[in-house]
Formats: sequence, structure tokens, C-alpha cells
Amino acid sequence: MEIFHISAECYPVAKVGGLADVVGALPKYQNNAGHLTRVVIPCYDTKFKKENDFECVHWGTVKLGRFNFSFSVLKETTNKLGFELYLIEIPELFDRKNVYGYEDDIERFLSFQIASLDWIIGRDGMPDVINCHDHHTGLIPFMMLYCNKYQKLQNTPSMITIHNGLYQGQFGFDKLHYLPVFNLAHVNVLEWDNCINSLAVGIKCAWAVTTVSPNYLNEINFSANGLETLFNLVRYKSRGILNGIDTEVWDPEKDKMLEKNYSVTNFEVGKQQNKEILCTLFNLDPSKPLFSFIGRLLEEKGGDLLPHATALAMSENYEQINILILGSGNPEIENQLNSLLPDYKGNYNTFIGYNEELAHLIYAGADYLLMPSRVEPCGLNQMYSLRYGTIPIVRRTGGLKDTVIDFGDDGNGICHDQASVGDICYSIQRGINLYKDKEKLNKIRKKGMLTDHSWERVCQEYIEVYNLIIKKV
Ligand code: ADP
Repeated sequence: MEIFHISAECYPVAKVGGLADVVGALPKYQNNAGHLTRVVIPCYDTKFKKENDFECVHWGTVKLGRFNFSFSVLKETTNKLGFELYLIEIPELFDRKNVYGYEDDIERFLSFQIASLDWIIGRDGMPDVINCHDHHTGLIPFMMLYCNKYQKLQNTPSMITIHNGLYQGQFGFDKLHYLPVFNLAHVNVLEWDNCINSLAVGIKCAWAVTTVSPNYLNEINFSANGLETLFNLVRYKSRGILNGIDTEVWDPEKDKMLEKNYSVTNFEVGKQQNKEILCTLFNLDPSKPLFSFIGRLLEEKGGDLLPHATALAMSENYEQINILILGSGNPEIENQLNSLLPDYKGNYNTFIGYNEELAHLIYAGADYLLMPSRVEPCGLNQMYSLRYGTIPIVRRTGGLKDTVIDFGDDGNGICHDQASVGDICYSIQRGINLYKDKEKLNKIRKKGMLTDHSWERVCQEYIEVYNLIIKKV
């Protein structure tokens, strides 16, 4: 089967969060399973772009209203990622350091989608399926069905995978003329809540919709930032498929970013050595349990609760615990977290920013990983931490509910129900108590390390959905 993944991110080329990890891994495992998989993302100004070789396989011009943007399609020459990687180079719009966050994001991702389809229809033969990811590619299923110039793709099945339904790529009808010509009888398909909503359009037009965990699919029927009714309407073509993790990238036995590699047979020693280096780097005490957080410092992740929870946990258990926070996001939360530093020197530290290597070291060296998320469509951090023998402390929501079971129910982690300071601190207290019972602690760590979250099994579920929609042609 020939599969195209079209996305805004792909690890290790361009990463902001979990979307990149999935698009950098799933295609590799689909290829290994005998399919021909291609990944298409915009060409940002990234280290990967500078350090690798590309050949130009296509070029053209995207017309966006009165603007014209030249584009080229660059193919990475060695397939070193385990799949064919194509970058859509539109210098005026994407030759920038960041993936998102610009005033012209609508124009950027619309041009990317148009350029991708222009190239695909110019090739010999059509793909068997096009898998779009999140709102940045949500207009593709619409354009494939209704835009005159993409008529060749009308019978090609499309699927949209929702990694995060909070972000929807809305814009006004004043930009309608940016879209390639289509029969205006279908204009209402673009509308949701009086504007063009890219994610809603993708959900309406794609032949199948997947979310990144089964529980998230249940939740979005009740809470989806205004799209609840739509999710209910498309339930018949929706499926929740739990993300896997790339067990080649995330492998404590081989991970080059660790101080000491370890496996399920010697994790106690291995984890302690990684913890010691972490504690040296951040002036913490390696004899005490280390609670960490890795992620975007936003309300959806419960980031706003962390400053207060840290202060409370420290005042209740001062000198019994360490807390280390790695993340960036809301500047107010960042400042609040940093303002606590002088009070808890030697027990608490932060790294405000993005650092892939440090994240790996924390997954290995921490004892507990905090995930007090309000919304977590799947969550990869808890799966990485399980694989590295670090016990996740999670709020029961989205994919966290699918993957973490409280150790009181013979599970692999610590769970709480509310995204609240009280619940976080209560769970930290349970972590402190568990830390004193080394036999029990190690049994739970081992259980986590042995859990199978590999893509081998999961990628078959994607193929099943593709097969269902291909049969409809
Ligand atoms: P989301 O995509 O919502 O941010 P996920 O749990 O799906 O959350 O994926 C987060 C990914 O981003 C993980 O690979 C995590 O390790 C990584 N990550 C998040 N913040 C940082 C950071 N500040 N530094 C390094 N890695 C980070």
C-alpha cells in the first residue's frame, strides 16, 4: 500500500511535541510492515535540513489570492529515517526557525497544503491513502473532494488523525479566495461557528477520523473546544488508536543521550547513575526521590498548577524530595516557577526551554514523572517514562487513562482524578511513601519497563482503517 503522511512536524526534522514523535515513527513501522510510506512536511530552517542532503524532485508556484509563492519539493536522498521524507520548501513562508507562532500561519499552512497536493497530482499514479495530521492539514480532504484542479484525487481515500483537538486553525471567510477554485455549492462544508475551521473541515471531509487514544475519542464527544456535536455526528467513521512509541529511539539500553545505559535486569543501578548526574547538573540531592515534569507549560498540561503544587509539596516535605521541571510555554508560569528557586535551593530546579537530551536524561534519572494534564489526547511522556522505569503520576484523562493504572489496583503508576494542587500533592505524598518500600517500588518500575507500547502492534490498526476506506472506492 502506498501511504502519504502530511504533517507540520516530524521527528527528528522538526519537533514541537508528540505530533513529531508519531509522524517520525509510525511511517517507519508501516514501511517495515511492507508498505511504501512517504512523509511530507514544510521545509523549516532546522539543523536536520542543514546537515542532510536533498534533491529537488518538483517545483511550482502556489497562488494565494493575489500572492504567488514559488515552491520546491526536496527529497532526502538516503531514506535514513526509515521512510521517504519530502520537504516542501517555500522560502518566503517557512525559512524560519520555529514551526508555529507567526502572524501568517494561516497563509503558511494553506500554501503548504496546496503545494503538497499540486506535487502529488503531478506524479505518476495516485497514492492508496493520504493520512493528514491535525488542523494544519485539515483542508486537504476538502480540496481533494471539491477543488477542480485536484479532481484526480476525488477517489483517493483520506484520513485525518487528531493529535490535539484544542487547536483548530480557524480563519475568516475574507480569506476564502485563498483556496483553489471549487464549486461554491460546497462552501458550507468549510463553515463551523461562522468561520472556516480547518480541523472541522478535515473531520467532515476525511473518509476516516482517528484520535490518538480510545479514551480521548470518548471525551471529545463531551468536550472538544466547540466541536462536540461534530464529533458525535462523525462517530460512525471514527476510531481511537493508542499511539505507540519508537522503541529504537526510546531505549534505555541503547540511548546515547544517557549517562549510563541499563535494562530491566540492572535498572536500579543504571537509573541511580543517571539520577546522580542530573542531581549534579541541577544541584539536587540524589538520595531523595526525584519528581519531574517535562512538557509545555500550559493550562492544558496543568502547568499553571505546578508553581503552587511545588511550593506546597516543598513546605510539607521539605528536605525529603527533589523537584525538577523542564519546559516552556506561558511566560507567567515560567516566571512563577523560577521565582521559587531561591526558597528551595538544593531541592528544586528548573530548565525553562526545550532540550531533547535533557528530556532523555530525566526520563532515565527521575523517580517519578508528573503529568497533571487537564487535556491529554494520548500523551507520550508517560509511555517513555514507563519504558525508562520512571513511575508516572497522572491525572486520569485522555490517553493517560488508557495507559496508566494506579499501583493500588496492581498497576504501573500513581493516578488522581482532579487537575488540582491538592490531588498533585497527595500523589507526591504517595510517591514519597512508595519510595521507602524499595521492593514494591522496583516491582512497579519493572512492570512499567516490560509494558509493550511498540508501534509494531499499533501500526496494524492504522492499516486496518486504511483498508476499510480503500474498500469503499
Ligand atoms: P504534546 O504533543 O501535547 O506536547 P506529548 O506527550 O504527546 O505532548 O509529547 C511531548 C513530546 O515533547 C515528548 O517527546 C516530550 O519528551 C517532548 N517535550 C515536551 N517539552 C519538552 C522540552 N521542554 N524539552 C524536551 N522535550 C520536550
